[in-house]
Amino acid sequence: MIEARGIHKYFGGSHVLRGIDATIARGEVAALMGSSGSGKSTFLRCLNRIEEPSQGDVLIEGTVITDLRTDVNRVRADIGMVFQEYNLFPHMTVLENVALGLIYVRRRPRSEAQETAADALKRVGLADHVTKHPQQLSGGQQQRVAIARSLAMRPKAILFDEPTSALDPEMVNEVLEVMRTLAEEGMTMVVVSHEIGFLRKAADQLIMLDAGQVVERGPTARVLDEPEHERTREFLRAIR
Ligand code: ATP
Ligand code: MG
Repeated sequence: MIEARGIHKYFGGSHVLRGIDATIARGEVAALMGSSGSGKSTFLRCLNRIEEPSQGDVLIEGTVITDLRTDVNRVRADIGMVFQEYNLFPHMTVLENVALGLIYVRRRPRSEAQETAADALKRVGLADHVTKHPQQLSGGQQQRVAIARSLAMRPKAILFDEPTSALDPEMVNEVLEVMRTLAEEGMTMVVVSHEIGFLRKAADQLIMLDAGQVVERGPTARVLDEPEHERTREFLRAIR
């Protein structure tokens, strides 16, 4: 479903991704872990070309998307992304925020877009909030709007970059719960998260990055309970 082959990224003279390979099967949830600066966000962003890899290829369902002829807007609609900050438009209602991409990227008629948006908002438990503006919602609710915005595009996969790390603790679970439901429904997901409880329940594989390289990967329980690499052991000690 998602395949990364030998991804390198340079920012000027600094070599931040040093040949990363990864395969995420359809319906699978993969989690990226690693200390700050290890390259998690950069790698994630290469998967839907928000960031251009300096070298290497990304394939989505067997099609190379790291090709100059590829329509990047289409790629970003197919592979949704949810960030730490929600990036909602404050002057629009929740429904309009979610419908926007359908209208301008997917070219759906407004009424149909709004219906699809309403369905997506229902899936994240926000059916009662569609006419509100983002600032009238809690952080957890706003993040669920951001997830609905991705879902409404009917993506092939969704990438999550520390979606709960800006939230107050009491709002973390409602967002993780939505993500867990999506995982159970078979959504293909790549998640940067250090929420160990969530990863245990929802992630199929863990990929541990260090200084732009994969140092260890494997089934979640195996990596968490019997880490093989010293960097992984150190990292897990630090976050527990
Ligand atoms: P964090 O846990 O803090 O989010 P991360 O693992 O997501 O860290 P990245 O944000 O991918 O790490 O950054 C990897 C390296 O690339 C860091 O050294 C960072 O300073 C550098 N970097 C990231 N984005 C840019 C950029 N746009 N320009 C220059 N350097 C960058
Ligand atoms: Mg990051």
